[in-house]
Amino acid sequence: MNNSSTSHRYEISFPGGRIVYLPLEGRIIDITGKGTIVLPDKRKIGIMMDLMEGMDPVTTAFKPVCLTIYTSHQCNLQCQYCYVPDKELYPKTIVASAAVDAAARFVAKNCRERKQPFILGFHGGNEPLMNLGKIEDLIHIAESVAQKNDLEFLPFCTTNGVIPEKTAKWAAGIFHGITLSWDGPPEIHDKYRKDKLGRNTSPQVRKTVGIFSDLMDPGRLSVRCTISGASVERMEELAEYFNRAGIKRVEFYPVFNVPEKSLRKDLIPDPGKFAYNFTKARAYGDANGIQVCFSGSRITDYHGRYCMILQDNLTITPDGFLTNCFFHTQNYENEYDQYFYGQFHPEKGQLVMHREKQNRMKTGSVSRLVVCSDCFNQFHCSQGCPAVCPFDENFHESDTPECIKEKWLGLAAILGNAGYLRTFDSEISFVEFFSGITVHRLS
Ligand code: SF4
Ligand code: SF4
Repeated sequence: MNNSSTSHRYEISFPGGRIVYLPLEGRIIDITGKGTIVLPDKRKIGIMMDLMEGMDPVTTAFKPVCLTIYTSHQCNLQCQYCYVPDKELYPKTIVASAAVDAAARFVAKNCRERKQPFILGFHGGNEPLMNLGKIEDLIHIAESVAQKNDLEFLPFCTTNGVIPEKTAKWAAGIFHGITLSWDGPPEIHDKYRKDKLGRNTSPQVRKTVGIFSDLMDPGRLSVRCTISGASVERMEELAEYFNRAGIKRVEFYPVFNVPEKSLRKDLIPDPGKFAYNFTKARAYGDANGIQVCFSGSRITDYHGRYCMILQDNLTITPDGFLTNCFFHTQNYENEYDQYFYGQFHPEKGQLVMHREKQNRMKTGSVSRLVVCSDCFNQFHCSQGCPAVCPFDENFHESDTPECIKEKWLGLAAILGNAGYLRTFDSEISFVEFFSGITVHRLS
């Protein structure tokens, strides 16, 4: 991989200007205006930084400083677009305390070495706060390990917000940050986020928001808002709605299809519409003090696919496997072996890692599709994940991801920083403008 800065210079021509973008230097040279714009400092951490600097993925050590736990596959809701297919068919297994203890010890060692705080996260795709006693136990285990190692301890959690009042109050007091899945006003939220009995969940979520708002600093609460075909044209209004509710950060997630589950087409938002409406929502956010984000393309971070290895993240599944993938979260019948690089060994009381598999994952996680290897956005893009996955048996380097939203939102961020992002009075003019942009890699 040749990552020298000079080999990554991209000339971007658009109606009204021409700029050169240098992603690895974090600079934009405005050819028309002859100025240079320095982008805000980019976050470069651990393994991603080493790989960005051209180190061999196989010799680059995996030293995770975050521990992410998939507590179980249990959930009290049945959202129609959930990315974890058929989880109700899985065993009712809950992650073993001994496995978390072993994982916490491994992570703490790296945190000490890298002088980083210990971050503990409870991931979604289930409802972690359904098992309150267990979560308390796991937090206690990880915190004790952090304390023994003299580390700052920062626990995070996701929740669907359909939780008892007592649990919400406890969560507000204990977590450093909470991400709440909330799709907006009742007519949007209740369309797809019903409970197991088919009842609306927005009244309960609203109640939880009230508790979190009363007890938490606003900076500690984020909203994850899933965008479907039915809500894509209302994203600006959604940003406004969350702002009125006192939320300071919202991440919009477009519904995506997973290979095992064919979702109804109307659930998946049109990519051009998503990009247009996201741009409007972000402009509203910038003007009104609410951070509006999209994880697929983040110009302010160096990032790639959502692979856990790239994120310095040790992720453990309910059945005690170490997974590289955010949505392959069980291996009960060894059917997803290619996503796992180790597991908890109960007799030894420790994690057993398969170094060769781990190395293969590091290499695979940073491998580029042919179309991506020449793209201005390759250091800030999820590169088709999860629809295009290098660990899928049908993957081929010549695959072409559907990436209109990542590409256009990457361009919008660059043009915005260069002062060239204008407002658009219609989706048609937005699409015309972005379709007309040309990008050339300079030698
Ligand atoms: S690239 Fe594949 S393994 Fe990595 S997070 Fe995406 S779907 Fe999972
Ligand atoms: S070609 Fe598409 S998927 Fe690949 S880096 Fe560029 S925008 Fe992302």
